[in-house]
Amino acid sequence: MRLIVVGSGIVGAACAYTASGLGAQVTLVDAAEPGQATAAGAGIICPWTASVEDPHWYEFACAAARHYPLLIAALAELGEGDVSYRQVGALLLADDQDRLEQARQRLHDRRAATPEIGDVRLLTGAEAQDLFPPLRPAQAAVHIAGAARVDGRRLAAALVRAACRNGATARTGTARLASRTSHGHGGHGSHGSHGSHGSRITGVKVDGDLIEADAVVAAAGAWTAQLLEPAGVTVQVVPQRGQIAHIGLGPADTSRWPVVLPSASGHYLLAFDDSRVVAGATREAGSGFDPRVTPAGLAEVLTNALTVAPGLGAGTHLETRVGLRPVGPDARPLLGPAGDGLVVATGLGASGLTMGPYAGAIAARAALRLPVDIDLAPFDPLR
Ligand SMILES: Cc1cc2nc3c(=O)[nH]c(=O)nc-3n(C[C@H](O)[C@H](O)[C@H](O)COP(=O)(O)OP(=O)(O)OC[C@H]3O[C@@H](n4cnc5c(N)ncnc54)[C@H](O)[C@@H]3O)c2cc1C
Repeated sequence: MRLIVVGSGIVGAACAYTASGLGAQVTLVDAAEPGQATAAGAGIICPWTASVEDPHWYEFACAAARHYPLLIAALAELGEGDVSYRQVGALLLADDQDRLEQARQRLHDRRAATPEIGDVRLLTGAEAQDLFPPLRPAQAAVHIAGAARVDGRRLAAALVRAACRNGATARTGTARLASRTSHGHGGHGSHGSHGSHGSRITGVKVDGDLIEADAVVAAAGAWTAQLLEPAGVTVQVVPQRGQIAHIGLGPADTSRWPVVLPSASGHYLLAFDDSRVVAGATREAGSGFDPRVTPAGLAEVLTNALTVAPGLGAGTHLETRVGLRPVGPDARPLLGPAGDGLVVATGLGASGLTMGPYAGAIAARAALRLPVDIDLAPFDPLR
């Protein structure tokens, strides 16, 4: 079966990897748009603390977190052994001891259904600071052992390499959908909506070349609505800008530092192996396609970071990354068939590095008309 995947962020890369592993002939097309969310994402995998109340979202996010260790092991077997994924744990902070205890209890209760949360226990300020030295002193925390982090850039690149080793072709360029009406006319993107006008997606056009396929997966992140609109398919997904600062801490070994989740602000800190702490992030609704670092955005993330971890103040500001999160009409992914020959996989919002590999794998199976292990109805991309 010939499959085209549009977008090689975490969702499209995972989709191409899964589909090529299942024997499909995959072409992965990416426009290299500035503001790719995957390249900017922090990479925290800890859905169990999220404030989202939607049970469909929660179950999906938990399944996605559970999927990670399996994916990482499979990639390691293919020679992609260092994708930066590590279960470093997380420190959940709160304003007072009562709230900490409530959070601990809630996580403890959730462990029955999701044991991958791991051990959950209260830490004193000194214990927390031992794990994440720049923290302000006397900041007690709940430690969540199962939390992990991953560098989206490295994981997506590894998935694309693995897909290409499975025979996939990766191509740079802006894809436009090609469709054919039931009367047999060819075209690209101008033939009315699926179902009502009876058109079928038959492939994509890239730089004037027509690439035909049996199915297309639209994993174009915040750009998915633009991709689908000319074919008469409407999905509710918009960009939400996120700015995130990277701070170098000289020779410090940050490789095992936990994720820090201050519950009040929605901001967070995490660390990678190269003496790097990442401080995020703005959530700028209505930003449009405008992937700039702004003084206000940078001030917001640094002020929040330094309030929680004043020890970062003497570090080096290395860079600020900007990504456009694909945000749907609610928290749930937009995932599943959206017409004849078309599957949509986007709308993962602020949790796309957590959910992306799982969502991409499901999209691949749906596009290849293989059974998927969840009910896709709550994720209908046309809702
Ligand atoms: C600052 C920030 C922090 C984040 N932190 C976390 C976190 O800690 N944990 C977490 O789980 N998630 C996090 N996220 C969210 C996560 O990064 C995103 O939800 C996820 O990366 C979205 O992946 P995607 O593949 O859907 O889209 P993207 O990564 O944006 O990829 C879409 C791709 O489609 C391509 N494209 C678009 N149009 C076309 C076209 N017509 N033809 C070809 N290609 C096209 C683009 O070039 C792009 O490469 C964060 C996001 C940001 C911005």
